[in-house]
Amino acid sequence: MPAATKTDLMVLGAGAAGMICAAEAGKRGLTVTILDHARAPGEKIRISGGGRCNFTNLHCSPNNFLSQNPRFVISALKSFTQHDFLNRVKSRGIAYHEKTLGQLFCDNSARDIIGMLTDDMRDTGVRLELSTEIAEVAHRDSHFEIRTGNGVWHAERLVVATGGKSIPKMGATGLGYDIARQFGHTVTETRAGLVPFTWASHMAESWKALSGVSVEVKAECNGSSFREAMLLTHRGLSGPAMLQISSYWRDGDRLRIDLAPEADVAAVLKAARSERPKASPWSVLSDVLPKRLSQKLEEDLASGAKRLADMGNAAIEEVAERLHGFGVVPGGTEGYRTAEVTLGGVDTKELNQKTMESRLVPGLHFIGEVVDVTGHLGGHNFQWAWSSGVAAGRFV
Ligand SMILES: Cc1cc2nc3c(=O)[nH]c(=O)nc-3n(C[C@H](O)[C@H](O)[C@H](O)COP(=O)(O)OP(=O)(O)OC[C@H]3O[C@@H](n4cnc5c(N)ncnc54)[C@H](O)[C@@H]3O)c2cc1C
Repeated sequence: MPAATKTDLMVLGAGAAGMICAAEAGKRGLTVTILDHARAPGEKIRISGGGRCNFTNLHCSPNNFLSQNPRFVISALKSFTQHDFLNRVKSRGIAYHEKTLGQLFCDNSARDIIGMLTDDMRDTGVRLELSTEIAEVAHRDSHFEIRTGNGVWHAERLVVATGGKSIPKMGATGLGYDIARQFGHTVTETRAGLVPFTWASHMAESWKALSGVSVEVKAECNGSSFREAMLLTHRGLSGPAMLQISSYWRDGDRLRIDLAPEADVAAVLKAARSERPKASPWSVLSDVLPKRLSQKLEEDLASGAKRLADMGNAAIEEVAERLHGFGVVPGGTEGYRTAEVTLGGVDTKELNQKTMESRLVPGLHFIGEVVDVTGHLGGHNFQWAWSSGVAAGRFV
């Protein structure tokens, strides 16, 4: 059997968290190796943000994360902030812009971010091993043994940065969760997050026709709400408002969608009743809503009255309530096939919040999406990858 290659630190997964962690540890003079089964590093970075990578968010704070222990993120986010990452981006001369709500994107390409991370790894002597299948990870005689398709490695310390299960076509696997369980860690329930909804079967046929309609909404579920755009698709409901609320939704839950959050629909209809009494409520509402949506709601919700003049205040308020509190029970979500993230993961109770080190196995760390920390849409997931990666890289 060939002799094992020794390295101070082995990082599993050359994604966002793994690469920044490897370079940080390399800077401290450790010999660092990073393994990935993909042919190229940072594949999710490459496709993120429509190819322009929403690499952080100016307003990122602990409130932007879901976890069984929401306080877990505080230390890492504080010790490497969105401004720290942005300073690195600026110092490389990478052109970027703020799109909306503090979301920062590359002007040119997400490849600029990958290039920055791979340059940092090269400059700090990190050994990058791609196209490498990981067969087995063990802890023997105070070192970690990693058996791969390309040989055996012995490492003093091990960082697991293999991400979540979303988009298996891009190489996502549950390896990190398996390693966590193998070492006695608890893995909280995992499910798809930031994911489009699918229509329940009774809605699918009639709502498909509205595919392409986009409307600004306020979506609520289980005590959380988001005010952003909703997009109707032939499969169901998508767009930022739906992706955000999907992380709070459970099978069978009803979404409450305010289809006209900017307007006081009852007031609009009452004013129109005086000015245009012969108008139908739905023709007036097509000034507030996209026309196709207003027509569809007319078919579904019309209470009989064809003219505003024939509607009393109670009838007007009923229409307003249906619009401000439109209820939908989705059939489900599109699942990991299209989800941007995996909710749940390695239980934070068993990790040190400053170093991401396991409280059960010294020298073992978990960073990035594999941990039970999930960000809102808008650059927060990458910020968690950067912050948790740097936290581990400074301490391993
Ligand atoms: C389409 C899409 C768009 C997104 N856009 C954004 C965005 O604009 N902004 C944002 O903040 N977040 C975005 N996200 C989320 C973000 O990409 C992730 O949260 C982030 O990449 C997590 O970083 P990570 O390093 O933990 O995991 P990953 O980046 O997923 O890296 C994990 C690495 O581990 C490797 N790996 C996995 N299993 C194995 C195995 N068995 N053997 C060897 N290697 C393995 C993978 O190949 C991968 O390179 C997006 C996600 C998707 C899917």
